[in-house]
Amino acid sequence: MITVEEAKNIIEDNVSELKESVSILTKDALGFRLAEDIHSTSDLPPFNQSNVDGYAVCGISKVWNVIAEIKAGDHTNLVLKEGEAARILTGAMVPAGSDCVIMQERIERKENAITLVDVEIKKYEHIRLKGSQIKEGEMALPKETLINPSVVGFISSMGVKEIKVYRKPRIALIITGNELQEVGTKAEQGKIYESNSSSLSAAALTMGLSIENIIFAKDDKIKLAEAVNSVIQSTDVLLISGGISVGDYDFVNEVLQENKTETLFYKVAQKPGKPLFFGKNKNTYVFGLPGNPASALTCFYEYVYPCLRKMQGYSNIHLTKVQLPLEAAINKKKGLANFLKAKASTNSVLSLEGQESFKMRSFAEANAFIYLPLDCENKNAGELVEVHLHPNL
Ligand code: AMP
Ligand code: MG
Repeated sequence: MITVEEAKNIIEDNVSELKESVSILTKDALGFRLAEDIHSTSDLPPFNQSNVDGYAVCGISKVWNVIAEIKAGDHTNLVLKEGEAARILTGAMVPAGSDCVIMQERIERKENAITLVDVEIKKYEHIRLKGSQIKEGEMALPKETLINPSVVGFISSMGVKEIKVYRKPRIALIITGNELQEVGTKAEQGKIYESNSSSLSAAALTMGLSIENIIFAKDDKIKLAEAVNSVIQSTDVLLISGGISVGDYDFVNEVLQENKTETLFYKVAQKPGKPLFFGKNKNTYVFGLPGNPASALTCFYEYVYPCLRKMQGYSNIHLTKVQLPLEAAINKKKGLANFLKAKASTNSVLSLEGQESFKMRSFAEANAFIYLPLDCENKNAGELVEVHLHPNL
């Protein structure tokens, strides 16, 4: 059995970034990482643009004669001469010869004559100069940039419809357990509703990922081996829920040994999730997650999450850690590290009632774990503890 810290180091040391690139529509690229430098294919703005509704004027004087109107979207070849002005609207092309654009609030208009009422005007005022955001050929965004909504907007504003990104990890999930019944069916005696496929899929969604393939397998060694072999080559991360303990019908470890999955660790000195398995089969990382619903989701957040983040090229791969004082005392013995379902607020953290690993009610209330390392003992109210915040939606 290894410690939490050792297990996390093994994940960090063995998992590498996915470097295969794919083309994708810019509008669909949220959460991906650029696999190419993006250079601007044009000047932005592509022409001198008015920043306000007003008048483009030629000559720094006080009175001009309005000779044209230019709306947003119009193309104009007009060249203003000294003393001439054009009525212009926000975003419209500023005609050649303009010294500046004057806001309409600063002007008095009589017929076609406009007169400046108050302020002084400055050269190029209220003109968004051609190329002032970025010039044609200039580097806009470097390779590896994480694509957030503003990056999507910036790339689109350069007219780029498709980009190269690193592909996201493909995740498959095998659910084991004869006792499990699909939600939405009539409850049968001796069975419980299967919930890990839902909670783990939702956890993947919070990371911008999806579990593409979910297979249900009975507690039968041959059936489980078939399920594993059917999916292992075509996935980057295989999650197996349940069947990793030492019960008579727990076949996951045996099946993984027989199909030559290299064990990187098996069993961690922690509660919940002691029988956690992590291994590698060719290029596929395999997690054997204990089936208890709270254990499976805790192990996802603490181990699968950093693995997937590392594959996606993040440098901060773990849940965000903060130190907070305890609202109430906690009893703990030495021996196993604890991840306690907890409610964190700005100034303190509370360990919730119902820490047993079959209980999801308390997990549903939690927004964080309190992490207590294995040699830590009882903690008093007010003592600082390490808190791992669950990912935000
Ligand atoms: P196991 O890890 O297979 O020994 O399962 C431990 C406990 O978790 C048992 O009480 C199972 O019934 C329960 N369990 C296992 N898998 C699931 C699941 N997918 N959804 C809900 N409960 C589960
Ligand atoms: Mg089971």
